[in-house]
This record gives sequence, structure tokens and C-alpha cells, in this order.
Amino acid sequence: MTARSGHGSSEILSGRSIIDDLGVTPLINAGGPNTKNSGSRPRPEAIAAMEAMSEVFVDMDELLLAAGERIAEITGNEAATITSGASGGLVVQAAVAMAKGDPDRIAQLPITSGMPSELIIQRGHRFIYDHLYLAPGSRFVEVGRPNDCTIDEIEAAITAETAGLIHLESPFKSHVAVPLTDLAELAHNHGLPVLADCASMLPPRINLTRFTSQGADLVSFSGGKAVRGPQSTGFLVGKPEWIEYARLNNAPNLGVTRAQKVSKEEIAGLLAALEAFTSIDEEAETKNYRAQMNFVVDQIAEIPGIMAKIEHNYDHYIPHAVVTFAENWKGPSYTDIADRMKAAEPRVYVAVDYRDPVKKMWIDPLNLQDGEVEIVADQFRKILIDGASGK
Ligand SMILES: *Cc1c(COP(=O)(O)O)cnc(C)c1O
Repeated sequence: MTARSGHGSSEILSGRSIIDDLGVTPLINAGGPNTKNSGSRPRPEAIAAMEAMSEVFVDMDELLLAAGERIAEITGNEAATITSGASGGLVVQAAVAMAKGDPDRIAQLPITSGMPSELIIQRGHRFIYDHLYLAPGSRFVEVGRPNDCTIDEIEAAITAETAGLIHLESPFKSHVAVPLTDLAELAHNHGLPVLADCASMLPPRINLTRFTSQGADLVSFSGGKAVRGPQSTGFLVGKPEWIEYARLNNAPNLGVTRAQKVSKEEIAGLLAALEAFTSIDEEAETKNYRAQMNFVVDQIAEIPGIMAKIEHNYDHYIPHAVVTFAENWKGPSYTDIADRMKAAEPRVYVAVDYRDPVKKMWIDPLNLQDGEVEIVADQFRKILIDGASGK
């Protein structure tokens, strides 16, 4: 038993005691692993590994090399390395495309003089995280239109200044892509790497190898979303030569990524989480999520103006209870409903479409703990009924 010294109390330390002490209100996370709503719950295996890892010291290069090899093995890839979130992976990807393994170039970034520094990105692949690609000094060359692009347009943009080609896999983006296999063939014909951001595309677990087998040289995944490792972790999988460049360009080595360090505890936590994640029966997991989302749909489906159904597809990585308003809906907007959920007691975070205009909202079961789906469904039902009746 651990006693808490703050506030002179002898309460047992708990998550609740920590936030109570700070005056911070708890939240039921029914919206998925969104960073601003504190991500996902690290697996017990990850927490145990982090605590155990605090007992030892190591040489970090040795640890990162060995952990990278283990991740490659677990995920079925040729090579892998660890980053500070998928975002950290994007910074590393851009640095790698420009500096490769050249120690002088690595030390020089973010000053890019004397090296190719342009990254080609399709306009339909611009997204909220893409400024990370610019952090080490690179520049974008945008091609195509927001809703499409051709391989010829990409080829025409390649010059001696090109360092790499960006590819994004993300919900609501599938329709705007030049096929990754075509992009990779083009890139490789020009001796360029394909840098892929696939941060949130797990599960399905088959995606651990899908994008590398389609030809991406470096694929960035988040360790703090559904993998449920430490919130601050991510990993890159890809071709051995590019992964080695990534390690050289990444913290703890000095350079533009030095602010992105990952601790030995976080490394151990990510490994344990990935081992657990990859050994879970995805079919059984999906069935369980689907049953919970069925319960939510049943609670709200009869509300006038509300259409509720389960979606599980490219845009919805696990079964979600998706709500759309019928034409005749006169109630508050999706965002207003989400705000009401978050202002209610208990506070509940639900996901709102990140496209503009907003076209739907949904409940994500990833972070729901025992007994929470009933609370969430009940509150959602009340707030939607109020909305439908003009309150
Ligand atoms: C979540 C996400 C990121 C950021 O991942 P972190 O692991 O939180 O750093 C980057 N790109 C896309 C497309 C994402 O969905």
C-alpha cells in the first residue's frame, strides 16, 4: 500500500486520488484514443514492464537496436525502431529522407543547404499532423487536387531537390490516394523513399505488414492508440537500410530529433503492449466491441431524427456506434451534442467527425471499462432526446 503525502491525507494512491488532489475532473472516454482526451489506457502488461524496467540501466543504442529487432519480429517486418509517438516518427522520416546516414547532414539539420529537402505530398493527403514533416527543415511540394491526383502529376514534380514522397493512410482519406504500390514503384525508380503515416490504422493487425508489403520504406504507427502502449510511444517499420538511418537520425542521438526521446521504461512498455496486442484474438475482440456498440445503438435508434448503426471499415478501425442526423433533424449540431456530453455529469467524451463539414459522430469502445457502456448509452440517449425535442 502506498500512502499519499499531499494534502496531509493518508488515502491510498489511485488515479482518482491523484486527479482529486489536483482538482481535475475525471472523464469517461467513449471517443477513442484522442491525445487531447488522454489517449488510450496502457495495457497492464505495459505498466508492469515499465515498472520493472526502472530497476536497470543500459546502453540506449543497444536497447534500441534490440527492441527494434524484437518489434520487427513481433510485427512480421524486416526492421523496426521506436519513436516518440507516430508524430515523432514523421519528424524522423523527413530527417532520414534528407540526411540518410550522413553524420554531417544529420548534425546540420534543420539547415538543409546542400541536400535535397523537398517532400512531395498529394493535396488530398494534407492533414492536421503534416507540419511534423516540416520540423527538420523540409519543404512540401504539393500536387493534385484535394480529391484526387494522378501518378503522372507526382512524377512531373520529381526533381533533383526531391528527398521523398509522402503517403497517408487515415480515416476518410482512402478515396484520395494514388495506390501505394504505384507510388512506391515510381519512388524506387527515382531512388527515393516512400514515407507513410499510418498512425491510427491498427487494428486490423494485418495492417502491421500491409503498407510495408505495398512498398512503403518507412511506415509510422502510433504505440499510444489501440496498441495501448505508453501514450508517448510510436514505432517505424520498414526496409532495414531506412530503419537504420531512422535510428541514426533519432533521439537519443544529437540532432533535430533530440527533443523526442523515449525512455527505457517506455521502450519496455511498448514492447510488452505490442506483444499483447499481436497475441489477442482479433475476432473475439471485435465481437466484444460489436456487442457493446449494439447496446448503444439499441438505446438511441428510436429517437426521432436519429440514425444509428454500427460501422467497422477503413474509416472505423473497430466497431463504432455511428450517429447521423436525418434530414428532418432540427436539434443541435454534432459538435453541440458532443459538448453537452462533455459538460454533463459524468463527463463523457464522444468522437465527432474531423472532416469539415461534420457529417457524423460516434461512440468508440476502445477505452470503455466495465460498466461504462451503460452510463454512456444512457447519457447519450437523454441528451439526444433533449436535442430532438428542441431543448
Ligand atoms: C494519431 C495520428 C498521428 C499522431 O500519432 P501520435 O502517436 O499521437 O503521435 C499522426 N498521424 C495520424 C494520421 C494520426 O492519426
